[in-house]
Amino acid sequence: ERRPKLWGIPIDNVSSDYAVSKVVNWIRLKQGGKYIVTLDALATLRARKDKIYAKCVKDADLVLPDGKGLTFALRFLGMPVQERIAGIDFVEKMCRIAAYEKVSVYFLGGAEGIAAKAAENMAKKYQGLEIAGVHHGYFDETEEPKIIEHIRESGASFLLVALGVPKQEIWMNRHREELEGIVAIGVGGSFDVLSG
Ligand code: UDP
Repeated sequence: ERRPKLWGIPIDNVSSDYAVSKVVNWIRLKQGGKYIVTLDALATLRARKDKIYAKCVKDADLVLPDGKGLTFALRFLGMPVQERIAGIDFVEKMCRIAAYEKVSVYFLGGAEGIAAKAAENMAKKYQGLEIAGVHHGYFDETEEPKIIEHIRESGASFLLVALGVPKQEIWMNRHREELEGIVAIGVGGSFDVLSG
């Protein structure tokens, strides 16, 4: 099945290579305003109880199956997916292709200095990677318009949103129209790992 459902939450049965090429295509065709969610077992449990989070997942343009628990459950229920796509691996894959395709990436989230360090490490690892900008993830609503403006003016095509679950999904859902021309993905605590 291409889009098996777990408790009403659709999950895309795609490979990470397919997902990456899909993102690059969206960017090339300037079909932005799209966002991607990676879902693990804990997140599906949350979606059962949290209607707002569930809606943000259902509205996503791609829902990638993350975590052994989720892929095991899907296999157990007779809906095996072809690949487990960990958020952090997907970020690295995207950075590699972004460097090659000249896709500019913006890093949003994490504690002060963490996004910048993660971006710096990725730029070192993937020669030619263009960092559009960075911003930490501890801001209140009054600062949001300024941050959105910064992202839009940065020329970013790909936006990593590391605000944790469910904050990042709610944020991407709320701002998708303002982020036209940009593809966003929720990456949880990835910057904490990438900055190390
Ligand atoms: N975070 C943030 N702003 C917030 C809350 C969290 O930028 O208001 C960041 C936090 O610094 C951490 C990440 O979001 O880097 C959350 O990581 P965690 O592993 O807790 O989230 P999950 O992987 O469950 O999404």
